[in-house]
Amino acid sequence: MKSFWNQCKEEIKKKLNKSHYEIWLEPTSIVSVGDKSITISVPNSYYIDRINKDYLSIIKEAVNSIAKKDVNIEFIVNINPLEPAVSSTDHEQGNSRGGDDIDRQIKTAPFTGLNPRYTFNNFIVGSCNQFAHAAAKAVVEGLTTYNPLFIYGGVGLGKTHLIQATGNIILNKYDNKRLLYVTSEVFVNDLITSLQHNGMKIFRDKYRSLDILFVDDIHFIAGKERSQEEFFHTFNTLFESHKQIILSSDKYPREIPKLEERLRSRFEWGLIADIQPPELETRIAILKQKAEEHRVTLPQDVAEFIANRVKSNIRELEGSLSRIIAVSSLKGKEISIHLAEDCFRDIFKTREKVISIGDIQKAVAEYFNIKVSDLKSKKRERNIAIPRQVAMYLCKELTNLSLEDIGKSFGGKDHSTVIHSQRKIERLFKENNEISIAVKLIRKTIEL
Ligand code: ADP
Ligand code: MG
Repeated sequence: MKSFWNQCKEEIKKKLNKSHYEIWLEPTSIVSVGDKSITISVPNSYYIDRINKDYLSIIKEAVNSIAKKDVNIEFIVNINPLEPAVSSTDHEQGNSRGGDDIDRQIKTAPFTGLNPRYTFNNFIVGSCNQFAHAAAKAVVEGLTTYNPLFIYGGVGLGKTHLIQATGNIILNKYDNKRLLYVTSEVFVNDLITSLQHNGMKIFRDKYRSLDILFVDDIHFIAGKERSQEEFFHTFNTLFESHKQIILSSDKYPREIPKLEERLRSRFEWGLIADIQPPELETRIAILKQKAEEHRVTLPQDVAEFIANRVKSNIRELEGSLSRIIAVSSLKGKEISIHLAEDCFRDIFKTREKVISIGDIQKAVAEYFNIKVSDLKSKKRERNIAIPRQVAMYLCKELTNLSLEDIGKSFGGKDHSTVIHSQRKIERLFKENNEISIAVKLIRKTIEL
């Protein structure tokens, strides 16, 4: 049975934009349920302001409809990560087993800010992120040997995933480590509200009593004087007491504009590892693993189709996969290369390199070691006819040109010849492995 708060969250989730839900509602948990009121714990006071301002009515509506009465909602800040909020499921178990269990659960489930969905198991390693992955593992093995660990790389390349996975594994491996993951935006907002509400002592106790502090997207504090100052002292306190600091950023420390020099140099004290855009094989592996997570079968050619077009951002890669999954289920069609072409036609067209018939003819002629003029000739020998059919097939696949236009560019053939070629090659794919390899390789050189 789902706990009360989980049910409420499900309701709320339906009404909110996904990212708003994930930021503002996901990290909340229930602390107590009274007759007329419930108490919800949130990560910091900034959440209280924000929830009251933007989400209270949606929350109230959900709570009242599930409780079937008017319930008052109170929020408390989970001030000290050592004094955790009870997660909703813990609370439910506690209820069924009695109050002592609640206390026990409270002690064993501190608020960490970590999302258990990020693990090392579902992090695909390729040459693009091998070093960062190894560095993170080394930090897990020998806490504070490498301090700080600084992971940098472009947007959507897996920084958050990697450092969260590191946190999750540390939680599993070590008992009683006080660990907190925040984005630097949360750090800054936490600082602002603490300053406004005379809460600096609590703020400092919270951050400086940790064994491991993760700050994601640390570049965000650059140019913010007070935040940099406070982070500098937090860093020093933790570092001097041999506590681990793990940071991520979109740039190498020296390249972060407006970052204070004293912070920059500290960021370079430990181990710095970069994450680069993934190479094709890694992109395919990621797509396949995400498809598995969604429990859908992703044919190899569709994985390649997407991976060949989305090159620099794993988040976009995931977005493309979600799109084809959605389209497939809406249309009730299996995921196939045809569905993929249909589904991404407009999206990929704009950013794809424009491929001309000339490019294709050149690549095909080169591969089969014949002349482009042979492709346009009327020669019927197999060593010319097959390459010509391959070239026509590729023109249909890779350009938006009409059958007529394609035919014309092959020495004035008509559209039925192009259709015939297309069918022939598709048939050969099934019978003749050599042709399908040839087409794949040629396609790669053209799309490069
Ligand atoms: P960043 O923090 O660098 O902007 P994220 O960590 O948020 O990027 O990654 C974006 C998405 O891509 C996430 O959903 C993440 O799970 C996924 N992702 C990134 N790298 C990998 C990887 N190596 N293996 C599997 N999934 C990955
Ligand atoms: Mg991130």
